[in-house]
Amino acid sequence: MAEEAGGADDHAVLGSGIVGLATARLLQRRGKNVTIYTKELPPRLTSNYAAALWTPTATLCDPTKITPEFKQVFEQAARISFRYWNDFIGHHPTYGVHYVEGLQLRDLANPTPPRVVPPDFYGNVIEDLHPQPIELMPDQHPFEGYGARLTLAMRFEAHTFLFRTLNDFYEAGGKIVIKDFKRPEDIDALKEKAVIACIGLGAKEVFKDEHLNPIRGQLNILAPQADLRYSVGLSGASAAPRWDGIAVGNSALYGIWDTEPDMKLAKEMIDNAAETFSKLQKFV
Ligand SMILES: Cc1cc2nc3c(=O)[nH]c(=O)nc-3n(C[C@H](O)[C@H](O)[C@H](O)COP(=O)(O)OP(=O)(O)OC[C@H]3O[C@@H](n4cnc5c(N)ncnc54)[C@H](O)[C@@H]3O)c2cc1C
Repeated sequence: MAEEAGGADDHAVLGSGIVGLATARLLQRRGKNVTIYTKELPPRLTSNYAAALWTPTATLCDPTKITPEFKQVFEQAARISFRYWNDFIGHHPTYGVHYVEGLQLRDLANPTPPRVVPPDFYGNVIEDLHPQPIELMPDQHPFEGYGARLTLAMRFEAHTFLFRTLNDFYEAGGKIVIKDFKRPEDIDALKEKAVIACIGLGAKEVFKDEHLNPIRGQLNILAPQADLRYSVGLSGASAAPRWDGIAVGNSALYGIWDTEPDMKLAKEMIDNAAETFSKLQKFV
């Protein structure tokens, strides 16, 4: 990207979420001077509230838009991304990038269809990058009447990672300018000739991008519990340990722009998790 910008030294990155900060740091590592222009800084961003699992194939785009060219670029990007983030695991806990184990249970009497996109959606092009789940045999777990599988996934402590990366950006000479872009002309007026827009949901308003389709997600964060080191999922209820608390439930509503927390939904998700997990207590 930096070379395509005619070798310009001064780059503008719009947005300071995970995409903007990662882009800015990549440019700095190539010796570029980078200014981030952003409406808001962490921790008030979508990126701070993600479940933050490295799941590039989870819900990326409309299946009808997937072309052979898309698959090629997607694979290349995913492989660069995987390699890039893996280097941070070596610095754990500084950056908060680590692998988390999970136990996925399914009620054999009441099967629910899995929400994840089937692996062949993207042509399995990065299947080798994911640790494969291990299906447990009935005699390998105590949960009678349930199917059980063990998972391993790369995930980010979002607050820690964004805070640390912002520090790295400053330390490498990066500058931040608080600015709210309203239209493409505001971007044209920047002094930098190379501009990379990473404004997430903000692209709809600025670029009138009608193709952008949001997925509204909501997590509920309960008090941290130091001895909980693995995530558990069962029939739509989930609990995952984070440094800032236990994330309970995770919703995904397509096409909804509202980013305000829905307290009724929060209560439903927590009640559902409490009921679901209490069923497991008899096995402990
Ligand atoms: C509950 C939940 C769970 C999730 N779980 C996962 C997961 O497990 N794995 C995963 O990969 N993803 C997950 N996501 C999605 C993930 O959080 C987002 O895809 C990601 O954070 C988007 O990052 P971003 O940098 O593009 O956008 P953002 O974090 O939204 O940052 C956008 C930046 O642009 C700035 N900006 C916006 N508009 C303007 C403007 N007009 N002018 C100037 N600046 C502007 C903002 O201030 C901000 O700095 C989840 C999301 C949620 C809500």
